[in-house]
Amino acid sequence: MDKLVKCITLNDSLLQGIDSVLICMQLLFIYSGCDFVSYFRGCGKKTFFYVFRKHASFIVGNGSFSDVHGHNGLYSFYRLICSVYFSKHRAAFQPYSTPKSLFDSISEGDLHEKHISFISAIREKLWERVVTEVEMMPNHEALKLHWMRCCWVFDYWSQSTSNTHALSDLSKCGWQITDNRLEIVWDTVLNFQKVEKTVEWYTKGCGCKTGCKTNRCKCRKAQNENCDGFCGPGCKCVNCFNVPDSGDQVLDMSIDLDDVISDDTEEFEDPVEVEQPELDGLVEQLDQTDDYWLFSTEEI
Ligand SMILES: [Zn+2]
Ligand SMILES: [Zn+2]
Repeated sequence: MDKLVKCITLNDSLLQGIDSVLICMQLLFIYSGCDFVSYFRGCGKKTFFYVFRKHASFIVGNGSFSDVHGHNGLYSFYRLICSVYFSKHRAAFQPYSTPKSLFDSISEGDLHEKHISFISAIREKLWERVVTEVEMMPNHEALKLHWMRCCWVFDYWSQSTSNTHALSDLSKCGWQITDNRLEIVWDTVLNFQKVEKTVEWYTKGCGCKTGCKTNRCKCRKAQNENCDGFCGPGCKCVNCFNVPDSGDQVLDMSIDLDDVISDDTEEFEDPVEVEQPELDGLVEQLDQTDDYWLFSTEEI
C-alpha cells in the first residue's frame, strides 16, 4: 500500500501538494462504503477516486481531509460527497463547471452555513434528475451520521496492529443499540417526521363537505414549514376552496355559507391532533444530541 501511494503521489500531477495521501486513500475507501458502513447508490469506488483526484485541492483544503473527527474533516467530507454528485449530474449545474465554482458562488454565512447551502444547492438540482429517492444525495444531517460511523471505522483500523483497542461508544457514532441489537441511525428524528408528513400529505387528506374554508379543515389548519395548508392529492373533500388558486375574495364570500351549515358538518371535519408541544420537545432533545455528536472529540 505504501509503495502504491508513493507511486501515485510522485506520478500524479493532480495529487501534488496533497498531504497525508495514505490517510486520504484510506478515508476515501471508508467514506465510499465498506464492510462497516453503507455506500452511495450509483457512486462506486472508481467514481470516488476519480472525483477525488480531479478536485483534490478543493476537497482536501488545507489538509483538513485527514483531520478526522474535527469540523474541518466533516467539511472536507461534505465537499467530497458534493463533488461526487456534482460530477455525476454535471449538466444540471450550468453555468458552473466545477464544484468549487458553485461553492465559491455561495457568499453568505460562515463556513458551516456555506457547506449546508452547498449541499442544499446540489440536492435542489438533483430532485429534477433522479428517478427514485435512492439515487438522491443524502441531506447534511444524514451525511454527518455516515461520516461519524466512518470516523469510528478509521479509528478501528488505525489500531488494527495493536493488541488492545480503545474505541468510542458506538451509540455516539451514528449507531444505536436497541435490545442488544446494533442499528444504523440513518437520519434525525426530525427529518423522518418531515418525510412522514410529506407521505401523509400525499395519502391522507381531509374529508370536509363544506369547502375547507375554516380551520376545522385539518389541511388548512396544518400550516407549517412542510405543508402550505392547501388541500392536496390525499383529500376527499368536496367543493374545496382551500386550493392555491382561490383568492381572498372567494374565501371571504364563502364564510357566510359556512356559518349557515356549520353544525351539521362537524362530524365530517376531522379534528386536528395537536402534537406541537411534543414535537418541540423532540427538536430540543435532538439539537442537544446533535451538538454532542458534533463536538464529541473523546480522547481515547
Ligand atoms: Zn378540508
Ligand atoms: Zn384537504
